[in-house]
Amino acid sequence: MGKPIIIDCMIRVVERNGKEHLIEGPKEVRAILRKLNILENTVLVVKGDELLTPDRMVEDGATIELIPVISGGMKCRVCGQTAVIAIPRHNAAFCKDHFLEFFKNQVTRAIKEHGMFRKKDRILVCVSGGKDSLVLWYVLTELGYNTTGLYINLGINDYSTTSKQKALKASEALKRELIIKEFHLEYGSIKAVARRGGRSDCSACGTVKRHYFNKVAIDEGFDVVATGHNLDDEAARLLGNLLRWQWEYLGRVTPVLEEARGLKKKVKPLCRLTEHEIATYAFLKGIDYIVEECPMSRHSTSLLYKEALNRIELQSPGTKHYFYQEYLRTGRKVFQDRLGTPVGVCSSCGMPTTERECSFCRLISRYLDSVKRPAATGSQ
Ligand SMILES: [Zn+2]
Ligand SMILES: [Zn+2]
Repeated sequence: MGKPIIIDCMIRVVERNGKEHLIEGPKEVRAILRKLNILENTVLVVKGDELLTPDRMVEDGATIELIPVISGGMKCRVCGQTAVIAIPRHNAAFCKDHFLEFFKNQVTRAIKEHGMFRKKDRILVCVSGGKDSLVLWYVLTELGYNTTGLYINLGINDYSTTSKQKALKASEALKRELIIKEFHLEYGSIKAVARRGGRSDCSACGTVKRHYFNKVAIDEGFDVVATGHNLDDEAARLLGNLLRWQWEYLGRVTPVLEEARGLKKKVKPLCRLTEHEIATYAFLKGIDYIVEECPMSRHSTSLLYKEALNRIELQSPGTKHYFYQEYLRTGRKVFQDRLGTPVGVCSSCGMPTTERECSFCRLISRYLDSVKRPAATGSQ
């Protein structure tokens, strides 16, 4: 809709048995399946390596693949019904209902195992509009936790417009408040801030997000900040830091950073689950998320580490999980002592820092100096 019409191009639909269909597009996944007389919940719809939800629009010229959720005739470990997903690292397969249960159990286990939070705590969930953070918000809310979303609009063109819509949609569906910080209205797009502030895009983005997560949590009286980092993120980060022997960062690879000197407690309840499992959960629950990668992170090295770990995992299921979990259990102790804790407070915003001004304020003031306009007022 609203897309230019490309004549003599169709959507190519490929089934696992080799059958192919050509369908006129653009069309919603749901409509394509209806046309082929296929039930929505009997297949996973995949484009490249993205899982498409039923309401995703498919463009003309695209190829999509239909994967029966019956994985090679595998049976659910719990009830013996046809499985929708195989989880080789647990040597298990599950039907839809038991996968959803497995998923929730893994989240509960992470919360308990690492003492993340309790039922009475107010949890600030950092929502980007992507699958990980939205699934986190859904699952914590479903488990009965007291959640509020936080979305930071960094002004990354269409990407931010779409991701904000997804976050708002989740807020409506969950009937939970979404706090929105319009960073770009105050300072401009993060790209401009990064460039003029002399930082890389991802570094500036990380600084800004961390600043708001902590500031909003303190200002609004939350007990803990939760982010959607998953097992793949955590294992990739661990591998990256090990390859470079970054001692101080290694100590920070953990699903829980306890509250310390003006820094709110930070937790990662999805740390036992892979990206694939999270995408499957989103798909099975019909959660609408932004599938595009952040356009600023396309060349990030963490993607290389994720790919390397996935190759190893394919040959040797369970390696990724073991690598991370054993690090937490035994290896991390070695690096933990080297953790530097912020000693002072920022002279501009009062947040903890090791220097006179915190990283966020230094970025913003360099940026504002370079555009030569008066400092913004009413900053949050
Ligand atoms: Zn089952
Ligand atoms: Zn500051």
